[in-house]
Amino acid sequence: MILLKNVFLDNQACDILIEQNKIAQIAEHINAPNAQVIDATGKAILPSFCNTHTHLAMMFLRGIGEDKNLFDWLQQDIFPREAKLKPEHIYALSRYGLLEMIKTGTTCFTDMYFYADETLKAVQDMGMRAIIPYLGMDFFDDNKTDEQIRQARTYLESPPSSPRIQKVLSCHSVYTCSEKLIRAFVALAKEYDTYLQVHVAETQKEVDDCLQKFGCRPVELLYRWGAMGPKTLFAHAVHLDDNDMRRVKETGTTLAHCPTSNLKLGSGQMPLQKYLDAGLKVTLGTDGVSSNNSLSMMSEMKLAALSAKNQADSVTAGKVDDIFALATRNGFNAFGLPAGQIKEGALADFILVDRNNVFLLPDNNRLSNMIYAADSSCITDVFCDGKAVMRNKVIPNEAEIIADFKHTCADLLK
Ligand SMILES: [Zn+2]
Repeated sequence: MILLKNVFLDNQACDILIEQNKIAQIAEHINAPNAQVIDATGKAILPSFCNTHTHLAMMFLRGIGEDKNLFDWLQQDIFPREAKLKPEHIYALSRYGLLEMIKTGTTCFTDMYFYADETLKAVQDMGMRAIIPYLGMDFFDDNKTDEQIRQARTYLESPPSSPRIQKVLSCHSVYTCSEKLIRAFVALAKEYDTYLQVHVAETQKEVDDCLQKFGCRPVELLYRWGAMGPKTLFAHAVHLDDNDMRRVKETGTTLAHCPTSNLKLGSGQMPLQKYLDAGLKVTLGTDGVSSNNSLSMMSEMKLAALSAKNQADSVTAGKVDDIFALATRNGFNAFGLPAGQIKEGALADFILVDRNNVFLLPDNNRLSNMIYAADSSCITDVFCDGKAVMRNKVIPNEAEIIADFKHTCADLLK
């Protein structure tokens, strides 16, 4: 049991009792003689962030292949370097990515990368929460298709090592995956009652190529292949037409918005407010650091808000409360997790911020300050599943994680 004493929730100080992995009680004064007491005077509590699209172990590619469009960047800079990756690199790269996530207030994320078992190990060791897929990407090579279907089943068959981890599936995209692979993954996801993630309609070129090859747009194609539903997450979804939006709504599919990556790679701007007004489920993600170039959900919120206003040509687009929900509860809820809000019964995933931080004063509107004014320097403590993963800005083993990362980069980029 943990008792947070004198912490600000909204506009008043209170006590918050954490029992096991949940917020058990919120009251003006709580007596809990057996609890570990944390004096939170001068701090405010907020939900932690859920990053719903990233490629965690791409940390070694930060700053490589700048100022190119998605397809040139992937073919010329990313795929050739990723070809050198071995399972033993992934653990060090993932731990370093998690370090950045913790420092920027994220406790939960969903990934899409190779050698998922190594990422799982890093998540387990650092106390984080994650939704980790087996990634299918066969490049239309039949030999790879069958092998990846077999590996995906093996991956799902063994249970995750922690209740904080969900094992799911991912097909990279309709331009890197065959129909056979996608249909098989859809069937596996149904069989194991798990989630499926796909990059969808990220660029106009992807839509045009799909129209030429299949005679329909990517969303409609995935709909025909049975890939949409309440347990499907489409990353990006920048270029949807009205029919696509109808499919998303009727199937309850979730869209992960990645505004920084979309603007940086020249992919376009999601019409966020139009999607929200239509009642679509939208979450927020950073994408990999190779196209962001950070994992900070705070930066992502600011850009999501500004991009929404710019795209809609309306100051009322991208409202503070909506943007904060995208980065917190919408993300957790998309994966069936009762978190992203500070209330009794919710999972104890939260951050503490310094109320005297230079970016948080005056405290007229804390969420607005978090989105538009502050950076992660205001975050002092991060809790995931009822346990501290950062206390007073200290993360266990930080120096060792950084040294291990540098060593791995030197090996990969030599
Ligand atoms: Zn991506």
